[in-house]
Amino acid sequence: MTATHSTRMLILGSGPAGLSAAIYGARAGLAPIVVQGIQPGGQLMTTTDVENYPGFREVIQGPWLMQEMQAQAEAVGAQMLWDTIVEVDVSQRPFRMVGDSGTVYVGDTLVIATGAQAKWLGLDSEKLLQGKGVSACATCDGFFFRGKKVAVIGGGNTAVEEALYLTNHSHDVTLIHRRDSLRAEKILQKRLFANDKITTLWNKKVERFIDGGGVTGLVGIELKDMETGELSTLDVDGGFVAIGHHPATELFRGHIALDDDGYITVDKGTTRTNVPGVFACGDVMDKHYRQAITAAGTGCMAALDAERFLAEADFEQVAEAAE
Ligand code: FAD
Ligand code: NAP
Repeated sequence: MTATHSTRMLILGSGPAGLSAAIYGARAGLAPIVVQGIQPGGQLMTTTDVENYPGFREVIQGPWLMQEMQAQAEAVGAQMLWDTIVEVDVSQRPFRMVGDSGTVYVGDTLVIATGAQAKWLGLDSEKLLQGKGVSACATCDGFFFRGKKVAVIGGGNTAVEEALYLTNHSHDVTLIHRRDSLRAEKILQKRLFANDKITTLWNKKVERFIDGGGVTGLVGIELKDMETGELSTLDVDGGFVAIGHHPATELFRGHIALDDDGYITVDKGTTRTNVPGVFACGDVMDKHYRQAITAAGTGCMAALDAERFLAEADFEQVAEAAE
């Protein structure tokens, strides 16, 4: 028989947004259920040092922070379930979702906190060599390249942090960027340029990841100069693609309003989507800030918005029954 879980507040996603919504929802007595998805703890599970989350004087570790957030949510009464939602029906309340496991989740309100996933360059050679030298997570895979030559592709915070992190394992890290200036915060740029293990290649586009054949995997990256068109080869054992993220919203396309970039749209200053009773928080609705603290902040907002929505809906129901 199909298992069904029902709750006043169903939360999809267990990153800082989903877990903050869970903490507030639980403390409001809504007994939230969090469907954790394929990456329990979200994006911060893939990083090491976090030094901009308020409340910690010393540098903390991303996975530790997320374990603490989850423990806090559970301590106040939120329930964590390990499943990934694959089907959505928000055409009527209560909303009905189906998990990968076949389990059905029913929520009087729905909080979407499904975050974002790494973007790839879209090259055939990239796909072919994923797990054989090409990765999108230095903190996950950097260790495998200790003492070897590696490259990071991108010019944002993620790329610079990945390059800096990789110097823990490699003395020869190249940052490859398609323009002549970085998008990353100045403080990170300063650390990057001060690090003599890192070389930056400007105005270079990746044409191809070069396969050494057999079990060898990646042996180099073919680059094209964006100004001259000249081709060159960089010999590396590891290539880390760090060019940003896609909002995880494919599931909601056609059900909930998305903007041109696929982010969930919300009413200004709130987490309300176009479907009454459905709220969105964190990176899935925020393409400007995309930080743990802003995700947590909007997670709090979503829980408060959902609580108020339920209070109003309950009041209307009582008033209708009395008429
Ligand atoms: P996410 O953290 O992306 O979590 C999304 C959640 O949704 C996951 O649990 C996933 O499993 C779940 N999910 C997805 N699809 C489904 C589904 N279909 N069903 C159920 N669940 C689903 N920010 C900082 O403030 N400081 C930093 O130092 C910092 N470092 C970073 C380092 C890296 C390498 C990266 C990639 C990001 C970093 N960020 C940092 C940004 C920060 O991690 C994100 O802004 C934040 O995690 C967003 O939180 P979120 O809860 O919105 O989404
Ligand atoms: P991002 O800021 O969107 O930067 C993506 C980078 O990749 C840009 O430099 C972009 O180049 C480049 N790029 C995009 N598509 C490309 C392609 N097809 N080929 C080559 N290069 C490509 O993404 P992010 O660095 O992942 O950061 C995402 C968010 O998370 C940001 O808001 C960031 O502040 C946050 N974050 C914060 C921290 C921190 O606070 N410590 C750490 C990591 C991430 P252009 O510059 O030319 O567009």
